[in-house]
Amino acid sequence: MTGFSTYAIHGFRSQQKDLHGALRTPVYDSVAFEHESAEDIYQVFSGRKPAHAYSRITNPTVEEFENRIKLLSNANAVVAVSSGMAAISNTLLTLAGSGTNIVASRHLFGNTLSLIERTLKPWGLEARYASMSDPLEVQAAIDDNTRAVFLETVTNPQLEVADIKAIAGITSRKGVPLIVDNTVTTPYLFRSKDFGVNIEVISSTKYISGGATSVGGLIVDNGNFDWTQSPRLEDWTRKMGPMALLGALRREVYRNIGSCLAPHHAYLQSLGLETMSLRIEKSCANALTVARFLQEHKKVAAVNYPGLKESEYHEVAAKQFANRFGGILTFDLQSRNACFAFINKLKLIRRASNVNDNKTLVLHPASTIFCEYPEKRLQEMNIRQTMIRLSVGIEDVSDIIHDLEEGLTTL
Ligand SMILES: *Cc1c(COP(=O)(O)O)cnc(C)c1O
Repeated sequence: MTGFSTYAIHGFRSQQKDLHGALRTPVYDSVAFEHESAEDIYQVFSGRKPAHAYSRITNPTVEEFENRIKLLSNANAVVAVSSGMAAISNTLLTLAGSGTNIVASRHLFGNTLSLIERTLKPWGLEARYASMSDPLEVQAAIDDNTRAVFLETVTNPQLEVADIKAIAGITSRKGVPLIVDNTVTTPYLFRSKDFGVNIEVISSTKYISGGATSVGGLIVDNGNFDWTQSPRLEDWTRKMGPMALLGALRREVYRNIGSCLAPHHAYLQSLGLETMSLRIEKSCANALTVARFLQEHKKVAAVNYPGLKESEYHEVAAKQFANRFGGILTFDLQSRNACFAFINKLKLIRRASNVNDNKTLVLHPASTIFCEYPEKRLQEMNIRQTMIRLSVGIEDVSDIIHDLEEGLTTL
């Protein structure tokens, strides 16, 4: 069977040879595509003939990126979108609506929480939060109006890892699709289909973009959910069968909202994808070394990384992510002031809010991403004033450790 990296690099060979024999799909920076006759355009617009017409709907460079992801995920269909948030919002808007609810993890990426609470709630969508570490709590939250269950493979910054197979067992019995945000693990570490996940959403801005080159997102339909169980997709299921979700998305929500990925960004992300497995291996190995270093350091009060045996999520993460544990870790110092002083001393590590860049990045979550929430809400979300988040990059690990050591010793 063809392996992950081979698919990531070659995609599948198109029957149509490039005009000049280019090995790389060019950036088709063209909005419109011409057709031979009026009949031809009719065939394309009515979906009878597959061809590109207008780049808000499909584009050859974007399609090449989608096809590679489809192959390496062994998925039914993929739609690439303008950002990770576009992937999440398009998926929820296609499945749910007013008078329905979604069951989501208590630990969510900040903007996902804001999307649900501030943007979708006023349109009549109810959000129910459950602990994804407690499958029975998830089961109890689902009712006839539940349109999806949503969780992240590794929550950020708590680094909670749910037993996704256990959750998928419940959602499949209840006939509700399970959506998993696979951003920080990617299809390289987490083969979502093997764990019963129905839809994967990814911010390709992170690992896939090859070093924070561009913003992008992906929606992956694993083809293992019967969409006749999804009331909002009734008409689409009749027309498109197993393609109902992404068919409805591309011909309705995605098209009408205008969430298209720019061809140039698709090009950068296809390029990033080609080296992704190497970069993930290196950042995971570096993160484990850094976690062990911090664990031994007397100025560090605690280290949270699923790769450490002491982590309560170590076993489930090892099983789910093929013994790799991602590039993100957190650790605690004595106080918020100590965190600020430490961050200000760093010379190599960059002060920035992204994750899974090639560069190691540091952030104080409580005063940045979560600064709009009161202390009580922070405690509920397990965000401490004493906590620092590191997204470990692919530099020489000795240099990362040297920078951390310098920052800590002068505290
Ligand atoms: C970054 C991120 C997103 C949002 O992605 P954008 O590309 O920035 O829109 C969503 N989920 C997770 C887990 C992320 O890390």
